[in-house]
Amino acid sequence: MTQSVPQVRFPDGTTVPALGLGTWHMGEDSARASDEIAALRAGIDCGMTLIDTAEMYASGGAEDITGAAIEGRRDEVFLVSKVLPSNASRKGTIAACEASLKRLNTDRIDLYLLHWPGRHPLEETIAGFEDLQAAGKILRWGVSNFDIDLMKSLTGLPGGESCAANQVLYNLATRGIEYDLKPWMEERSMPVMAYCPLDEGRLLRHPSLGEMAGKLGVTSAQLAIAFLLSRKGVIPIPKSSNPERVQENRAAADIRLTEEQLAELDRIFPPPRSAEPLEMI
Ligand code: NDP
Repeated sequence: MTQSVPQVRFPDGTTVPALGLGTWHMGEDSARASDEIAALRAGIDCGMTLIDTAEMYASGGAEDITGAAIEGRRDEVFLVSKVLPSNASRKGTIAACEASLKRLNTDRIDLYLLHWPGRHPLEETIAGFEDLQAAGKILRWGVSNFDIDLMKSLTGLPGGESCAANQVLYNLATRGIEYDLKPWMEERSMPVMAYCPLDEGRLLRHPSLGEMAGKLGVTSAQLAIAFLLSRKGVIPIPKSSNPERVQENRAAADIRLTEEQLAELDRIFPPPRSAEPLEMI
């Protein structure tokens, strides 16, 4: 690894590494906790200082693991967590965030997301986010799994234009957002957090991707991540509980794909030709 991780800018001017760390499935088995903590620390050590977690993951267990991994290094890290839609009333959002802060063992979350749209009116959730922001408990807020129509409604609400990011399913095999949502967000300088950048590991078994990666002397994981990093304003958040794999993923940030290589990826994984419903997990 030679170069530093490229940066992405949030609408408020804050910059973060374009490559972060996922935590889904961490904290599910105490026998794996030390590996998970080591993997997150390895990521921070090599510049992947954005960590994505959620109250949902292992019912708070992933936030516990994240809290342990960042102990003594809170200021190095940009923390992202999420409120469950079922908790996202004004009061519920505040209570959920306070519980997350305890598990994360910190006084603030850098970016707090609504995990997916739910039954509570968005005005209520925004009011909860604003209360948390005023109290310094979150520094900015955003959403996850919002399609373009929902983004338009959200940003039309009072306070809704402060939405800092949308975290969505985006990888080589799932490129629908490139048609409309991604350009819409780019116009507003709103980063796209790309979840499941490896399609939960399925892309690693894709024969044509493997063949192309082999010719380039990189791994399939690195090629899949490098594709996302070639896109402006995109922050892939691959998850690995293995420190060596974390370093392998980090090295993807040193790869610069040529126009020809990107065209080859388009042949293997065609971009969308029309609007598609937002896919989600
Ligand atoms: P990913 O696409 O990141 O794939 C993770 C899988 O790939 C794991 O099985 C991991 O195994 C494996 N893996 C990672 N790196 C490598 C490598 N270099 N070589 C081989 N295997 C590798 O899937 P996720 O579902 O974890 O998505 C990433 C993150 O996005 C989540 O962890 C979570 O933080 C977030 N997310 C958000 C959602 C939302 O609704 N907002 C929904 C889903 C995910 P191992 O750990 O053993 O290395």
